[in-house]
Amino acid sequence: MTVSATGTSTTGSTTSEATLVSRTAAELAGMIASGEVSAHEVAQVHLDRIASTDQAVHAFLHVDAAGALAAADAVDAARSRGEALGPLAGVPLGLKDVFTMQGVPTTCGSRILEGWRPPYDATVTRRLRAAGVVVLGKTNMDEFAMGSSTENSAYGPTGNPWDLARIPGGSSGGSAAAVAAGQAPIALGTDTGGSIRQPAAVCGLVGVKPTYGGVSRSGLIAFSSSLDQAGPLARTVLDAALLHAVIAGHDPLDSTSIDAPVPAVVDAAVRRDVSGVHVGVVRELAGEGYQPGVEARFREAVAVLEELGAEVVEVSCPSFAYALPAYYLIAPSECSSNLARFDAMRYGLRVGDDGEAGAEEVMSLTRAAGFGPEVIRRIMIGTYALSSGYYDAYYGQAQKVRTLITRDFTAAFEGVDALVSPTTPTVAFPLGERTGDPMAMYAADLCTIPANLAGTPALSVPCGLADGLPVGLQVMAPALADERMYRLAGALEAELDARRGHPLLHEAPRLPAAPIDEEQR
Ligand code: GLN
Repeated sequence: MTVSATGTSTTGSTTSEATLVSRTAAELAGMIASGEVSAHEVAQVHLDRIASTDQAVHAFLHVDAAGALAAADAVDAARSRGEALGPLAGVPLGLKDVFTMQGVPTTCGSRILEGWRPPYDATVTRRLRAAGVVVLGKTNMDEFAMGSSTENSAYGPTGNPWDLARIPGGSSGGSAAAVAAGQAPIALGTDTGGSIRQPAAVCGLVGVKPTYGGVSRSGLIAFSSSLDQAGPLARTVLDAALLHAVIAGHDPLDSTSIDAPVPAVVDAAVRRDVSGVHVGVVRELAGEGYQPGVEARFREAVAVLEELGAEVVEVSCPSFAYALPAYYLIAPSECSSNLARFDAMRYGLRVGDDGEAGAEEVMSLTRAAGFGPEVIRRIMIGTYALSSGYYDAYYGQAQKVRTLITRDFTAAFEGVDALVSPTTPTVAFPLGERTGDPMAMYAADLCTIPANLAGTPALSVPCGLADGLPVGLQVMAPALADERMYRLAGALEAELDARRGHPLLHEAPRLPAAPIDEEQR
């Protein structure tokens, strides 16, 4: 898709531009390191691609063309001085608007942060810069990462590049759409209940939620602190691993950051051997509510893993059935506390400050105007669940269920190395279909939430199409064993690509490309 979409003569693109936006991050880094192409040219081609397609896709909330080109020029200069370049140096990236980036507008998809320019970089942003990764801009997301479709963004929804009338998933929908649309080879998202894996699945990408604490949350605007985790979105398992390796590792600025070596994810991604790996299929993540085409692609992919030498058994995780209700008490409870900081005094929006109104009144007017309906719903649920007299009945009970889910994982991993399931019960649904029905929207994360509650890592890898739309297979591993997911996913990806004769993304339809306005350059 990415090739044909920019390759059309109406966009005025050259063949080289058309080719560059379809390259993987690993390929681009190699081309830049060898001098075949400059980082500047790579950045410019992706900025042009955004200019020609983002009116239709709306993946970006802010494009930082000047910053991106300056970062690319710094990589080119380092290369010309003969300095060794890192494995992602010069590679463009879309950054979810939940990460702070010094001086660059950061809204978290909310009106309440409109106009805010953070005074500091998130640790993840700092590590990207240090690695020479070229941040193109900030990507669209559900407000404060609450949602599964990016329709809760205060700045309007994003379209799925496979079908612009469908959701790109959420809450990291802008990041996923950018990668699927050829606007960036890689992107970063955050996953509190599925917000990296679910968009990856419905956009035909690889998406990874690392082990909780594996990637620093410093400078990541908090939704639900005991669940939030940053991670990569990419077109290949290797690209995801390369990005994972750049952002992961201990950070003294985050007290929940794990002080342990980063799992060897890059080696695992290219190992392509799963013989003797014990894989458990989760019995409870199937059946009613699952689209037949999704179940069929999932079962076929499991059969492929078996043909490749994995030993597959069925595993029961009975408490997974209660993951969704437990999550929808814990996440709102934590967000009601985290979002108290948006008080009209410290950041962004301030409403009703006429010199007469008291601080409390300004606070209340600002919060009423600045937060959207889903955020308000969650703050109200969370405040109620945490209130005295209800705490034990709701929040306390949900934490007990969380322990049962963790025990299901522990028991399962005594018998198998990794667990698998579909990533989502259905393929991308039409925009608007679930906006009036929060329960239906929440169901999109049925399969992804257990790993967040347990703090264990999970990954989504494309496993085919159902009704012409991508299906994802989820791999779950024990905490700190992230490399196992990359090993399984890398082998499956290589085999499926070989049988198909090309990567799945090549089957995506063309995007309607608008002509590039030369003035914008
Ligand atoms: N869709 C889930 C929610 O709305 C998960 C969001 C996320 O992972 N950030 O809370």
